[in-house]
Amino acid sequence: MLAEADDHVVAFLSQIHNLSGRTAVITGGAQGIGLAIATRFADNGARIVIGDLDEAKAKEAAASLKADAIGVGCDVASDADVVGLLEATTAAFGPVNVMVNNAGITRDATMRKMTEQQFDDVITVHLRGCWNGTRRAAGIMRETGGGSIINMSSMAGIGGVSSFCAYSASKGAVAAMTRSIAAHCRSKGYKIRCNSIHPDGIKTPMVAGLHTTLKPGQMPSVREKDPKQVMARFAEPQDIANLVLFLASDESRFIQGAEMRIDNGYLMWAD
Ligand code: NAD
Repeated sequence: MLAEADDHVVAFLSQIHNLSGRTAVITGGAQGIGLAIATRFADNGARIVIGDLDEAKAKEAAASLKADAIGVGCDVASDADVVGLLEATTAAFGPVNVMVNNAGITRDATMRKMTEQQFDDVITVHLRGCWNGTRRAAGIMRETGGGSIINMSSMAGIGGVSSFCAYSASKGAVAAMTRSIAAHCRSKGYKIRCNSIHPDGIKTPMVAGLHTTLKPGQMPSVREKDPKQVMARFAEPQDIANLVLFLASDESRFIQGAEMRIDNGYLMWAD
């Protein structure tokens, strides 16, 4: 049913949000949400560069797309790697037009149980990773007429999740940094838009990995049973990719510095 609905969505979206002639870079694109974004962009005409810590998987993912695409090994926490990713992009397809800073990890625990290493790892990959991707892509876009940057935050960065202390902190900081960069780009007159998106739980390997009691391939069902959810289910990666596609396209040209929740109304409840 969902797959059938998705076919209609793909057909509809391919007629709008055209990314033909655009070069898009997606970090953490070897699997999960990043791969769904890369697939959506490819279906809508973009040339794709997947940057991921797992180089082999990035190349495999790129080869699976119906578009010109390459996979590049890249640790977003390293500025040199991100510069290398964008140089490889320019060499293959021309300068980046759309940058999706999506790479992420979970190493989390409560405030009391978290180690300094876990805290540093999460903050570094999410916050420094987004900063590296945004500043380096913006540096290129400034010279080439503009572009769209989308930073992956989370509902955890708007609310607060008790067992996700560093994760919540890093994702909240990603949103604040995105607003700061959007303000900078607007005040300088750069045609660069920078927005953050805030999904709730999505069916990806990251979420499955948090629930160690599940059998391989089984997804947690707690969200499905949550009475606050009217259409209770986890988001599919494609749900997130549809929003990112909109933000990448010219149809979202007046959206700058926004924090877009995509959570099936998780903050709403009926009394
Ligand atoms: P995932 O674990 O399925 O995929 C993450 C990808 O990022 C992997 O391919 C991994 O190799 C790559 N990666 C990790 N560290 C990296 C680094 N330092 N440099 C480059 N690549 C790196 O995760 P996902 O669920 O697809 O999550 C993608 C993004 O969405 C993350 O930023 C995550 O925090 C965010 N998010 C996820 C959920 C969810 O429920 N899954 C909800 C809200 C936000």
